[in-house]
Amino acid sequence: MNLIFLGPPGAGKGTQAKRLEVEYGIAQISTGDMLRAEVKAQTDIGKLAKSIMEEGKLIPDDVIIKMLAQRVRQADCAQGFMLDGFPRTQPQAEALDSMLGELHIQLDAVILLTVNEADLVERISGRYTCAKCGAGYNDYFKPTQVKDTCDVCGSHDFVRRADDSRETVQARLKVYHEQTAPILPYYRKIGKLHEIDGNKSIEEVSHQIDTVLKMIQEKGKK
Ligand code: AMP
Repeated sequence: MNLIFLGPPGAGKGTQAKRLEVEYGIAQISTGDMLRAEVKAQTDIGKLAKSIMEEGKLIPDDVIIKMLAQRVRQADCAQGFMLDGFPRTQPQAEALDSMLGELHIQLDAVILLTVNEADLVERISGRYTCAKCGAGYNDYFKPTQVKDTCDVCGSHDFVRRADDSRETVQARLKVYHEQTAPILPYYRKIGKLHEIDGNKSIEEVSHQIDTVLKMIQEKGKK
């Protein structure tokens, strides 16, 4: 299956894509994670991306399109992939269409996670992850059971994303509405868009997504 996850920052795209990677064996492609790795490794792309990401703005289309075009051609994508954080603009959506056409890959579904935006600032500014095992937490909704200790691996090291501050979240939301939301009607028009209520619990959201994916798998068998 080849899927796209869309939705504002903090809607739960990453959480769901990571889960599906484990449960369905499809590669998660997070352009945000790829860029954070570039920043960490201080590559040319990383140097360009660092300040743009900290301001909550978007990396230029040509740079990100090139990066994604290389990634979808890697071996692990042959079993299918989920795009988490791409496309984010009209030119990216158009480039993706031609990329998939060239590779003879069919897009199966676009999962749109909708959320109440009043909750987003807390959802995002409260989040942190274990530096050792990557388990995710939130100051407001899901703190560690024992203060400063990871529930999963017991580590005491945690990291927060540089762009998860309250101020940057507002900028990221603005960018989402101005540049990403306008691509939704296209996916709706071609009948691929599935809207999921991301305000529900992780279990309920997972269940709704699984129902959509099962339906797609059944259709594929016919
Ligand atoms: P994310 O982890 O998806 O929230 O992405 C974090 C940041 O990486 C975004 O705020 C952008 O600065 C940058 N980024 C990630 N994906 C893209 C993309 N498809 N186009 C442009 N910038 C991106």
